[in-house]
This record gives sequence, C-alpha cells and structure tokens, in this order.
Amino acid sequence: MVNVIVVAGAGVSGLTSALLLSRSKANKVTVVAKHMPGDYDIEYASPWAGANVLPMASEENSRWERRTWPELKRLTEEVPEAGIHFQKARVYRRVKDAEAPGYHLSDYLFSTDPWYKSVLPDFRELSKEEVIPGHDSGCEFTSVCINTVVYLSWLVGQCLKNGVVFKRVVLTDIREAKSLSHTGQPANIIINATALGSLKLGGVEDTTMTPARAQIVLVRNEYHPMIATSGTDDSATEITYIMQRAAGGGTILGGTYDIGNWESAPDPNIAVRIMKRAVEAAPGLAGGKGIEGLSVIRHGVGLRPWRKDGVRIEEEVLDESTSIVHNYGHAGWGYQGSYGCAERVVELVNEIRKRKGEDLSGEDK
Ligand code: FAD
Repeated sequence: MVNVIVVAGAGVSGLTSALLLSRSKANKVTVVAKHMPGDYDIEYASPWAGANVLPMASEENSRWERRTWPELKRLTEEVPEAGIHFQKARVYRRVKDAEAPGYHLSDYLFSTDPWYKSVLPDFRELSKEEVIPGHDSGCEFTSVCINTVVYLSWLVGQCLKNGVVFKRVVLTDIREAKSLSHTGQPANIIINATALGSLKLGGVEDTTMTPARAQIVLVRNEYHPMIATSGTDDSATEITYIMQRAAGGGTILGGTYDIGNWESAPDPNIAVRIMKRAVEAAPGLAGGKGIEGLSVIRHGVGLRPWRKDGVRIEEEVLDESTSIVHNYGHAGWGYQGSYGCAERVVELVNEIRKRKGEDLSGEDK
C-alpha cells in the first residue's frame, strides 16, 4: 500500500518531518512551501535561528527536547556535513528575573535544578568566580550550535536522497495540499508545518498563533562558550545570548523575545543594546575593544512561531480519506525539539495507516 503524503512547510519542522517519513518506502512524500532553504524572509523563521540547544520546556513537556538531543549529538559526532558542532553553554541567572512578574521567556532553562542536567553532558554549577558580574549563579553543560544555512540544505539533500519531491507553492487553504502530490494521486495525509502561516491559512486559522519577535546581530567575531542570561535591565522583552555557529556561520548575538510584535525591520536602538550587552557579558568577543571591535555581517529579525497553548502536534480528520497531522507552534525551540516532534508525526501517521488496515510489521527504517 502506498501513502501519499504532502508536507506543507519547508522550515526545520517540515523538513525533519519529511525526512523521517521518507525513511519508509511506503510513504511517497512531497514538500510544498512558499519559502525554501536559501530564502531569508520574515515569514520564514528557520534560517534566522542560532541555532543551539538550550532546553526551555518544563519537565512535564520535555519529551520533544529530550528525544531530539541524541540525534543532534549523533549528527555532530558522525555527520560533519550537517554543519553542527559541539559548544559549551553557560547559563547565567539573576534572582530578580526569577521573581519578576510574568517571567516567561524560557524559565525552565534557568531553573537551579533543571531536568536537563541528566540529559545534556558535563552539567555542572559554576563557582561564584565563574559567574559574570551582575548575576547570582550559573551552570555549564555541553550543547551544540547548528549552522542553519548548512543544516537546512543538508536536510533537503537527505530528503531528496529518499525520493522526496519539493515544490514552491503558496497555499491559501490547507485543503489545497490534497491535490499537490508529485504522484498525481490525492494525498491521504497532509502534514501542516506552516508555523506562523497557520494563523491565516484557510482550514487552520489558528488565532492563538502570534510571533515572538527575535532581533539579532550576526557577527564575524568568534567566541565560545555560548552564553545566555536570564534577563536584562534594558527591557522585559530583551535577552542576552551569544552563540557561534559551526562551519564559519558567524556568531549570533541576541536578542529579543517580544510576543505579539510583527515588526520586520531591525530597530537600530535595540541593535546597539544587543551589541553592548554582548561585549559586556563577553569582553573577549570583540578583543576588549567594545562594540567597535565587532565585525557585523547583518542585522536581522525573525519571528518565532509562538502558540498560546504550546506546540500543536495532533491528527485532524479532514474527510473520509484524508487526515491532517499538525506540527506547528514551536516558538523558540524548533531545532532543539525537531526530531522529537517529527518522531511524533511519524507515530501519528503510522496510527492512521494501521487504522486503514496496513501491516507495518516489516516497516523499513
Ligand atoms: P518556519 O521555519 O517558519 O517554516 C514555515 C514554513 O511554512 C516555510 O517554508 C513557509 O514558507 C511555509 N508556509 C507558511 N505558510 C505557508 C503557506 N500559506 N503556503 C505555503 N507555505 C507556507 N530554535 C532552537 O531550537 N534553537 C535556537 O537556538 C533558536 N534560536 C532562534 C533564534 C532566532 C533569531 C529565531 C528567529 C528563532 C530561533 N529558534 C531557535 C526558533 C526556531 O527558529 C523556530 O522554532 C523554527 O525555525 C520553526 O520552524 P518551522 O519549520 O516550524 O517554521
């Protein structure tokens, strides 16, 4: 039996879903999307990301991140062409941030007894001397940083190798995906990985979707370890992080986490504050020369696909012969949760296949 699957969306969520689904020969996968790797657009979050692994979920919701880490670790160790390298991460906490009303950014990352200490290697609390000025405590662990340009292209290549076909399409309604398979047959499964597009996409129109605006500065300066702080005195929507991408991808200085803000143009005042905070937290980043020592590649803004109740990964029956499997709303953790979420997409697709009487016992991996 053949499953005709159309994946809507070619960000990290759509591509990882397509990759895992294409590992089964019974699945004929087409990816349709308005934006593809190589594009930089305000409607396309994935290229703008750091992207590293700094767990953000509560322990209860940690499945996606917990299950993604082993695969990212394996890729880093065994698949250099995926464009991922190991980096130590240092997370600095201020007591006043934890006590601030409405503190929401990525609270669990800054927990003093985090669930991820048994998942990410080499976790340790920092000594007082290792904590940067203005902060009360901190921890260190081994993480990774992904060169998103290289990695997204690598995902496309892996999909192509498995027979996935890519098409540029702007959908006005998710139901249009049904007639877009390269096989010429109607799709029986549609994967909706349109992220923020799900707000306006006909047939989905999820009004709980809104952006968490991320302004960044990409610089040529190299710096490790990666850094993230629990808050800033500049604004409740501003944060500080530094992460050096693999394979010459530059170093991302962040940032902002501004829920409901659609502004696509970088704000020059915010840009200066981002750079100032970065060189304050890591003077070595600019050779001790302050922000004049930074070599800027670009200023950028990406919109994280934020959803009020968290990620949506579930089946919706469209008609007698077709189901939609949703995989959208990953906010600021789309990469670090990508394999966990795509694995759930495959589980849901397999449940649909079993319901239709398919025997999956000899399934190829
Ligand atoms: P997107 O990448 O936005 O892809 C959506 C896809 O759907 C696109 O192909 C788009 O064209 C398509 N689409 C939408 N509507 C339609 C339509 N109507 N018709 C056809 N196609 C459509 N995450 C991490 O894990 N670690 C990090 O360190 C990290 N850092 C970040 C830093 C920044 C500055 C930003 C902006 C984000 C960061 N994130 C990070 C978050 C991460 O980038 C997102 O969670 C992730 O990229 C979401 O991927 P996605 O595939 O769901 O959405």
